[in-house]
Amino acid sequence: VETIGILGGGQLGRMLAVAASRLGLRSHIYEPGAAPAGDVAHSLTTAGYDDARALEAFARSVDLVTYEFENVPAESLDLIEAIVPIRPGRRALAVSQDRVAEKSFLNEIGLTTAPWVAVDGLGDIALTGPAILKTRRLGYDGKGQVRLKPGDDVRAAWKAVAGAPSVLEGFVDFSAEISVIVARGADGQVAAFDPGANVHRDGILRTTTVPCGLPGRITQDAILAAGRIVNGLDYVGVMGVEFFVTAQGLVVNEIAPRVHNSGHWTQAGCAVDQFEQHIRAITGLPLGDGGRHADVVMENLIGDDIDRVPEWLRRPRTQVHLYGKGAARPGRKMGHVNIIQ
Ligand code: ATP
Ligand code: MG
Ligand code: MG
Repeated sequence: VETIGILGGGQLGRMLAVAASRLGLRSHIYEPGAAPAGDVAHSLTTAGYDDARALEAFARSVDLVTYEFENVPAESLDLIEAIVPIRPGRRALAVSQDRVAEKSFLNEIGLTTAPWVAVDGLGDIALTGPAILKTRRLGYDGKGQVRLKPGDDVRAAWKAVAGAPSVLEGFVDFSAEISVIVARGADGQVAAFDPGANVHRDGILRTTTVPCGLPGRITQDAILAAGRIVNGLDYVGVMGVEFFVTAQGLVVNEIAPRVHNSGHWTQAGCAVDQFEQHIRAITGLPLGDGGRHADVVMENLIGDDIDRVPEWLRRPRTQVHLYGKGAARPGRKMGHVNIIQ
């Protein structure tokens, strides 16, 4: 492998391109919109996912294709896959593009999710307790979600998701949120990083703390569940698995078939971070072991947080990562810091 194609030119694509470059590989980014990754990749295509000729030219210019976001249309993937392999594979994409397919898969392999029902119309929204209505597709950072309790106006909720096929989830009473960043190589070897504790605000990840402070019986359970997921999908690459910790055990919230925001701490805590791990996995190189040499708190710089960068730069034992996105908007991820504890 000499050149990796990356679908998506946001900050995750950018950090993947840097990791690829460090391993002596070239990267070609495909990004229809603004592309923070464009300035670190070796080449960039700025065409839409409906542009068959651009997709085919992109596929021909690379040795394999990976992605930084899971919502690439299936038709675009068909065009690419006719020319070059896609890693992680189509099954993981199909499962994670659709919350119903994802929860069905997780339940089939014996993992617990929030209680859920598919919602195709107003009549499917029956509230027996606190719940969250989430669109089946395309949601991220809490977008496309409405929180509900019995007595709430379900019509307004249905309107808020624009009548899109959705899933109604029971609200999980959790004591903590943790995530496991797990990798599986082409040979089936699995390596996980230590679970991190995640704190969200307004549906957006604020901080990840490692170690997560939970007992080993919980963290080991989480790692084993993540292993079951990647093995079940015959997965190749890095995956993020989000869990709720409850009195009844772990509940899987969702999976992301890619590098994950809650794995950014690995840049300061591990010899091989999640980005390099992903590049290693998809190119058939040996995986890093996931070992951690430092305790780390990762804090996202969201919107105006970017104004505090001068302070962060003066702080000892702190790594500052900026995504080069230009204008800050509320809720926009502009960068992150890794603070070694
Ligand atoms: P991401 O950017 O992580 O992909 P997303 O838009 O897919 O976000 P979720 O991870 O489904 O959103 O939800 C965002 C956050 O909302 C969760 O991390 C959790 O804090 C809260 N949340 C989501 N679903 C539930 C639930 N069923 N019960 C309780 N809290 C929930
Ligand atoms: Mg999500
Ligand atoms: Mg999430």
